[in-house]
Amino acid sequence: LTSSSSSPGLHVIHIAAEMAPVAKVGGLGDVLSALSKALQKKGHLVEIVLPKYDCMQYESIQDLRVLDLVVESYFDGQLFKNKIWIGTVEGLPVYFIEPLHPAKFFWRGKTYGEPDDLKRFSFFSRAALELLHQAGKKPDIIHCHDWQTAFVAPLYWDLYAPKGLNSARICFTCHNFEYQGTAPASEVASCGLDIHHLNRPDRMQDHSSPDRINPVKGAIVFSNIVTTVSPTYAQEVRTSQGGQGLHGTLNAHAQKFVGILNGIDTDYWNPATDGYLRFQYNANDLEGKAENKKALQRHLGLSFSDSRRPLVGCITRLVPQKGVHLIRHAIYRSLELGGQFVLLGSSPVPNIRREFEEIAKKFENHEHVRLILKYDEALSHSIYASSDMFIIPSIFEPCGLTQMIAMRYGAIPIARKTGGLNDSVFDVDDDDDTIPIQLRNGYTFVTPDEQGFNGAFDRAFNHYKSDNEGWKELINKVMNIDFSWDTSASQYEELYLQSVSRARAALRVA
Ligand code: ADP
Repeated sequence: LTSSSSSPGLHVIHIAAEMAPVAKVGGLGDVLSALSKALQKKGHLVEIVLPKYDCMQYESIQDLRVLDLVVESYFDGQLFKNKIWIGTVEGLPVYFIEPLHPAKFFWRGKTYGEPDDLKRFSFFSRAALELLHQAGKKPDIIHCHDWQTAFVAPLYWDLYAPKGLNSARICFTCHNFEYQGTAPASEVASCGLDIHHLNRPDRMQDHSSPDRINPVKGAIVFSNIVTTVSPTYAQEVRTSQGGQGLHGTLNAHAQKFVGILNGIDTDYWNPATDGYLRFQYNANDLEGKAENKKALQRHLGLSFSDSRRPLVGCITRLVPQKGVHLIRHAIYRSLELGGQFVLLGSSPVPNIRREFEEIAKKFENHEHVRLILKYDEALSHSIYASSDMFIIPSIFEPCGLTQMIAMRYGAIPIARKTGGLNDSVFDVDDDDDTIPIQLRNGYTFVTPDEQGFNGAFDRAFNHYKSDNEGWKELINKVMNIDFSWDTSASQYEELYLQSVSRARAALRVA
């Protein structure tokens, strides 16, 4: 059992519901492992606590073993035992909590989407703190993420700091304010939070009803540092249109709230070494990219007779946030403009899933369109590598990783100007002089309708078809942009250090 830090750096413990590649649903998983790796590289001791899901990618965990430590944690008036496992993922020490609770919280064959998700993750948040307490950890920072582990912040200050787990500052990152985990007050009480004390408009009470508790609001109120995943999104969520009901709370706590643009794991997402690709390539030799495109076309049964027919890619969760009506439109527009279209997407929303299943069926033998409606890591790499263009027409987008991954693989992004897309995709044709030429890397649009989308998409097609050399230069430019975590991890490091030194200064005064 790793105890507390002996290195001069900080001791940071992340408590989260996802981590790539073992348990990844979306961007949160990518961020967890990439940010942790970047902080570890800077000399900090980073540990991670995850639920032990039955459906994890176990082959990505080294030396998984059960610890000789049974942690008992409180839930619904009783104590429950938890088995604690430890293993190494991507070089990082990870604790996995297996609750020995009759509801078998993490034996459901999936990460999220269960009717009792609130119980599953509030139980986990409490058990994670109990683990740190019983193991005698003295972290400098406990970093929790999204509503699933937002409970950590109030639990820490109300229950665990008084018990002696009090060395840490709490950092909360919200990766998407759409998901707040709001629930009736009585349900949130199960994990031991004192609801009478917390159910107030300035604490955890949801704006929609006095009987509902909002875990994300609680984490904003009770954390020392609150971040979200891009500067533009941080501004958007402070407005009544973008704040999903939390703008008032975010404004009240504005002095501790910042937006830091995510990076991507540039070792993992690297076309020059990517083991999922048939042909590796780099910005100076794009032969492999063309070969991958042909291989993907062959694999999906698409026509490969014309290598100059642009392939448009899209890899996404199919939820309203992602602009599903524009994704659907893009399929038809690609055909009209003489392109090919490949969508890799899965949807937790039944009517969207049905709609796309119908479209997939309609095009199942088409020579220029293929829809693959599932989650498939290997295929995602081939699509990034094969795409000439990549669409991200989101209605809102906290950060978005796919535009950055696409660029790393030489696919030109066509993105709506919102959230993190607005901080990472800059229009090559923009007449805004404040954006330097070297940053201009794609095509953007503002109005989320078909006309708005075409305004960017058609320009991309024109460029591709009329200026081969210029297009190649653009590919070269986007592949050389630094999307690594170095800069962003330094910003987190700075926030952690400031918060820790403020706490130490306050202790000295006291
Ligand atoms: P979000 O977190 O909202 O889903 P992001 O753009 O931040 O969106 O992150 C999406 C991540 O999930 C990327 O790494 C992307 O490649 C991956 N992804 C999304 N859908 C699929 C899919 N169907 N198959 C494989 N990977 C996917």
